[in-house]
Amino acid sequence: MTLWNNLLGNLAVVAIATCLLTFGNPWFSRLHPRVSPIALGVIMACGTVCVMMLPFQFLTGIYLDLRYTFIGISAFFGGPLALVLPLVSALALRISLGGTGVVTGVTHILLTAVSGLVLWRITRSKPVTPGRLAALAGAVAASGTVGFVFTVAIDRWSVVFPSVVAPFASVLFVSTIFSGLAILQERRRVDITNENRIYRAIIEALPDCLNAKDLSGRFIAANPATATLMNAPTVPALLGKSDMDFYPADIAAEFRTIEQSLIAQGKPLMVEQRFTSLDGRDVWLATLKAPILDERGAITGLVTHNREITEQKQTELALATAQTRLADAVSSMADGLAMFDASGKLLFRNEQYLELFPLTADIRDVGTSLKDVLRMAIARGEDQAVPSCPEDTVERTFAAFMTAGTRQFRLADGRWIEARTRHATDGGAMIVFTDVTAAKKAEVDLKVLNSHLAGLATTDALTGLFNRRAFDVALDDMTRKAVEAGQGLGLLLIDVDRFKAFNDTYGHPEGDACLKAIATSLLQASSIHPGAVVARYGGEEIAVILPDVRDGAALEIAEALCAAVRARGIPHAGSEKGIVTVSIGVAQSSLRGAHRKDDLLKEADSGLYSAKALGRDQVQLAQPHPEKRRSRR
Ligand code: GH3
Ligand code: MG
Ligand code: MG
Repeated sequence: MTLWNNLLGNLAVVAIATCLLTFGNPWFSRLHPRVSPIALGVIMACGTVCVMMLPFQFLTGIYLDLRYTFIGISAFFGGPLALVLPLVSALALRISLGGTGVVTGVTHILLTAVSGLVLWRITRSKPVTPGRLAALAGAVAASGTVGFVFTVAIDRWSVVFPSVVAPFASVLFVSTIFSGLAILQERRRVDITNENRIYRAIIEALPDCLNAKDLSGRFIAANPATATLMNAPTVPALLGKSDMDFYPADIAAEFRTIEQSLIAQGKPLMVEQRFTSLDGRDVWLATLKAPILDERGAITGLVTHNREITEQKQTELALATAQTRLADAVSSMADGLAMFDASGKLLFRNEQYLELFPLTADIRDVGTSLKDVLRMAIARGEDQAVPSCPEDTVERTFAAFMTAGTRQFRLADGRWIEARTRHATDGGAMIVFTDVTAAKKAEVDLKVLNSHLAGLATTDALTGLFNRRAFDVALDDMTRKAVEAGQGLGLLLIDVDRFKAFNDTYGHPEGDACLKAIATSLLQASSIHPGAVVARYGGEEIAVILPDVRDGAALEIAEALCAAVRARGIPHAGSEKGIVTVSIGVAQSSLRGAHRKDDLLKEADSGLYSAKALGRDQVQLAQPHPEKRRSRR
């Protein structure tokens, strides 16, 4: 009876100590890592002392207890710090009890402590498994009974081993296993609780919605973000309800269809959902739905993770719209557009760019180097013939194209292209090519028109001779040059005789025709003198400037002109001559020493006055009486 009482007492102490450990574990686990093993050691030391006070005997005279269980458990679960107290208590008590078995007892205690420590060391960084626990129980049982091999005489082994060693080893093994398993279980529970707390904290703080539903679509778990999305006041208000309770029937039905397809397929599903939220916003969600499986792999529900991507979607949509608009604008612009990176590689071009360069359109692809394009344009004769080294031209043209500014160049087919370069932010260049051939032609036409207008400004419309303005300019110019060169300058003033009468007789239009004819004759006749300038001086008066004339030459030329008009023989019934004639006044700078233009004009006018006075159809040099002349006017 004593055996069982005390054995049960020992087992009860083990059970109580184990209970204390497991109940206290949540508290111990919060202690400092160095203090927690000491707390374990305190409980184990108490247990050790208690069991040593309650020994049991399988065989008369052999007292045993379960101290080894406590020592082994302390060392295995708590290391040296936990071991110290139980070990010291066990050794002190055993030594104080004395007796013949003191050496064996102390040896057993030390052996158990060492084997427990060795196993603690080996498994320190690894999880405690039932297998490792069995190894500990085996080590405790062996260290607590090994002394019997040496202390019991061989002839008594057959009695002692079956009746003492084997039952005692079994009790040690079982008590260690159960105590260890209980501690292990409790530690796992704490670990799982901690893990759960961490997961819960993450899920609660998660800005994304995370929830679980059963197979009929009712919420069984949800985080606060889900409650916010569903407009539910709290998470518990959500539990047990489904989308039907929150969304309009059509939206809820759409969500349910997706969930049912997931349940049917049994595989995780990633979808993007767009809907109008309960507060009226247009919402986009990226949703991951995954099945919840039981141990047998059957689907028991589904977990949903929603991430709101409304902002991202709106940005994507805005970007896509902007890109479409840009592409539309670029493709519908009239000009060619090409973008190059800093090294001159083509990054982008529109169709119009290709149309501008048909001979090299096939190589103007994205990725092609501008230099290669320029080389090919020269080789295929699209660019104008290059007089010097083509490679120099390529380098020069490339540098020009990549520099900000506007330039025009002409293609071999005669078209003019304008290239406007702007620098891009990445160091590349954006070039707009425009066919400016029409504008160029207009520019040339304008030049022609301008020169024509300039001609008109100096020409007399009726006779085609220089007009009075041109005459004034020419006389100024030629007077100056004559002075500079020390040459003579002749001036003839020619007046048609009786022209008023001609008009009166034949009519004004006929008078015009007559003036034209006279002009032609005078122009032809004066062409014998190089550089002669013939101009309509006014009305029916014509002036001729004769540069570089020798003495008397002006008079000779005047005579020739007079004869030329006479020779035309234009009938003139109103003239005493019967035909159209002219009178000519001559002035020659070298003859009279007059170099001023006004003097020349006065002299020529004076000569003309004389010619008229002397009977017309003749040539006269200047008259010495200018007053008379003035009276003629
Ligand atoms: P004279 O021999 O003294 O020079 O006589 P005249 O009739 O020519 O005299 P006057 O110089 O007074 O008359 C000039 C005339 O020339 C007057 C005008 O009708 C005419 N005339 C001037 N310019 C033109 C013109 O452009 N066309 C025509 N048809 N007649 C013109
Ligand atoms: Mg006149
Ligand atoms: Mg006249």
